[in-house]
Amino acid sequence: ASADIGLIGLAVMGSNLALNIAEKGYTIAVHNRTAAKIDEFVAEAGELRPRIIGKADLKEFVQAIKAPRSIIIMVKAGKPVDDVIEELLPLLDKGDAILECGNSLYTDTQRRFDYLKPKGIGYLGVGVSGGEEGARHGPSIMVGGSKEQWHNAEPVLKAIAAKFNGEPCCAYLGEGGAGHFVKTIHNGIEYADMQMIAEVYGVMRDGLGMNPKQASDVFKEWNKGPLNSYLIEITGYVLEAIDGPTGKPLVELIVDRAGQKGTGRWSAIVAQEMAVPATAIEGAVAARSLSAAKDQRVAAEAIYGKRQAGGADVSLAELEKALLAGKIAAYAQGFAVLAKASEENGWNLPLGTIAKIWRAGCIIRSRFLDQMAATYDKGDNVNLLVAPDFVTIMKDAHPSLRKVVAAGALGEFPLICLSSALSYFDSYRQARGTANLIQGQRDFFGAHGFEIEGRGPGQHGKWPSTLGN
Ligand code: NDP
Repeated sequence: ASADIGLIGLAVMGSNLALNIAEKGYTIAVHNRTAAKIDEFVAEAGELRPRIIGKADLKEFVQAIKAPRSIIIMVKAGKPVDDVIEELLPLLDKGDAILECGNSLYTDTQRRFDYLKPKGIGYLGVGVSGGEEGARHGPSIMVGGSKEQWHNAEPVLKAIAAKFNGEPCCAYLGEGGAGHFVKTIHNGIEYADMQMIAEVYGVMRDGLGMNPKQASDVFKEWNKGPLNSYLIEITGYVLEAIDGPTGKPLVELIVDRAGQKGTGRWSAIVAQEMAVPATAIEGAVAARSLSAAKDQRVAAEAIYGKRQAGGADVSLAELEKALLAGKIAAYAQGFAVLAKASEENGWNLPLGTIAKIWRAGCIIRSRFLDQMAATYDKGDNVNLLVAPDFVTIMKDAHPSLRKVVAAGALGEFPLICLSSALSYFDSYRQARGTANLIQGQRDFFGAHGFEIEGRGPGQHGKWPSTLGN
């Protein structure tokens, strides 16, 4: 056996990861269900070819890897992962480990971890972010599962990961499904980040009458300031792109119907399951679903009429701050979900480390995450909205978010994510809310009882027994 590591699944992500591993000096054995892809991959590997061992036979593939083996699976999420595990199982030895790097549901990862543990096979659920480009040149890598076997694969994964100031964006985060859970929440935050940017573009387009080039220039400028991030940067490029055949701005020709593969939705579902308010993430998922309902939107606009363009009373500086404030609220929600899940699953998730490994390689990478890492590194898992550094920014920025949301409400353009972020902030910092009325209502119809300060819980009202019509 001469390979340092193995990889199964030579589609977009798998092939790029394999090239990245070979480039870092490791020898890698590769396998794919459709054998023709193996030959094609090896043939196209160029100068990296001597460090790539293609094996169409699964047994030979396993035997080509040095023990204790680390085998990456990068196939379609869901049943294919279980199929590959079953095929591999009889060929593995105790102490070997499977590193599943697709976008798996963390509960599936937990189930597979629990299934393989008694068999002595390590299972690592690894979240990989950064798309094709990241896989090839440095993704952010979120590892969970069998800690012992993690150390066998650690040098390879750290070598291929993105680097931020020289530090690899790769870390072991916790047992079982922890890695895939963190990747899921990363994607939820990504949805919110993207949606809020799209909403701000909507204000520019519909409220301020700006064309895509003008909007692009603004995003490019913003990328030099506190919003500096990969998503703001690519937004500048997407907005300035010109369609070849027509010469028109490409963005104006793209159909306004967004796709989703599920991880954003999972993060909203899990937040609900754990009773953690994550309204900005939920809003972003809802916005994608609404975008997909194009026919209904066209029909409804015909009923209510098209809104008049222009008329938004906001400045670009206010839009920039609104986006920053919305972003802080969305990240506060994402990290609150992580903190709660950590507690419920006994994962002991290191929030500071998570912020650190998101600083480069992944889709939500940004300068902002460096600041967040510094906050969480101080040790306390507080909501970001009350962390001193972010309080200062929020105090300065929330009036702008308020103004932008008001402009959207009056100007009739939707800001589902930004307005959810604002409502969350306002609810979070309101010492006396309105749930006293909810408790009264619940006691009225269900005798659920309520608490009165000084008299304790379990109090009831004397409600009328019959109601008039
Ligand atoms: P796909 O999700 O398109 O999966 C294709 C690969 O899965 C092929 O190698 C295919 O083999 C293999 N496969 C499918 N079914 C089976 C099966 N039953 N048994 C064995 N092999 C099977 O590939 P991607 O590279 O796009 O993604 C891989 C994983 O990475 C997914 O979980 C995806 O969600 C995740 N991911 C993808 C990103 C992206 O940007 N594309 C970004 C981050 C994560 P065959 O050639 O024989 O069909």
